[in-house]
Amino acid sequence: MHIESLALPSIRGLTPYQPGKPISELERELGIRDIIKLASNENPLGPGPLALAAARTALESCHLYPDGGGFELKAALARHLRVEPAQITLGNGSNDVLELIARVFLGPGVEAVFSEHAFAVYPLATQAAGARAVVAPAHDGSRGPRYGHDLKAMHACVTPLTRVVFIANPNNPTGTRLGQAELRGFMESLPDTTLVVVDEAYFEYVNAPDHPDALDWLADFPQLIVTRTFSKAYGLAGFRIGYSVSSPELANWLNRVRLPFNVSSPALEAARAALEDTAHLQRSVQLNREGLAVLSEGFAARKLDYIPSVGNFVCFDTGRAAGTVYDALLREGIIVRPVANYGLPRHLRVTVGLPEQNQMFLGALDKVLAA
Ligand SMILES: *Cc1c(COP(=O)(O)O)cnc(C)c1O
Repeated sequence: MHIESLALPSIRGLTPYQPGKPISELERELGIRDIIKLASNENPLGPGPLALAAARTALESCHLYPDGGGFELKAALARHLRVEPAQITLGNGSNDVLELIARVFLGPGVEAVFSEHAFAVYPLATQAAGARAVVAPAHDGSRGPRYGHDLKAMHACVTPLTRVVFIANPNNPTGTRLGQAELRGFMESLPDTTLVVVDEAYFEYVNAPDHPDALDWLADFPQLIVTRTFSKAYGLAGFRIGYSVSSPELANWLNRVRLPFNVSSPALEAARAALEDTAHLQRSVQLNREGLAVLSEGFAARKLDYIPSVGNFVCFDTGRAAGTVYDALLREGIIVRPVANYGLPRHLRVTVGLPEQNQMFLGALDKVLAA
């Protein structure tokens, strides 16, 4: 039997998402200990104490299905974000919500637009749905930050067939961002028959006066969907919980394809507690700010080109095919992220770690690049 011929054409062309290498895998492969993983933009401080306590309590009830509607968390998020609970869609990570969007709005005969070097889940979700991915070239550095989203180029890709435009602000893996006026102008320039997903997975880290909070625009643009996550600044990546905010009508459509109980009860409880733990969030953001400066200055001092980032990671140019540097860093016990699949074959992406981890990384990089 030829299983391949049975699989849908849209699925046959897919290559699986490549996650950062897990610590346990490298331990097995190399038989080494004390591995540092700076590969998946996780919070190096870990979860906050309030989230952890809430999750532990929730474990006692793990024989019960979670609240499939996520009532308590939606109520807490609604207060926190000043929106209505009916505008919120909870997901098994925000990736889940991106998939729901693709499931509802993308399919054969229609298109999704996103930028070159944009988050890998956009092409995956688009292709899996059988829609056509239209990739806009990124800025070349002459009219905007090199490697960043070029909204003019993206606008030029929008046609009557475009159902969804995906924008990551800031973007992963480039760490580039779009300002308020620029993104607002883009929203205004589009027909309201084109959905715009503004993925704000790294929103909490950004500290720039002109940085937009796309939630402010929901009343003006019924076609807007904003996604956020507890995986990054809130330190709950392992729980898999994120959400979108949109019009209640859009949320209703997403809810039709959402799997029942797509978010576990410990995740719901941990997220609710994490929202209250502003101290942990502030510590995380502050630590990141310092670490981002250390890494950026570290690259500059080593005359390595890097992409200035506002996220919790930096992409740097290794000056050669990055695979050998990646492998050599692994042998030093440091896991970073190759980004060749993002059209950046010479770059590696490193997540901001604890101060000592950042130093270990820079030290290992020196050793590897000197070899
Ligand atoms: C990490 C990330 C996400 C969030 O993924 P989760 O499924 O919420 O863990 C979404 N978008 C971008 C751009 C990311 O880098």
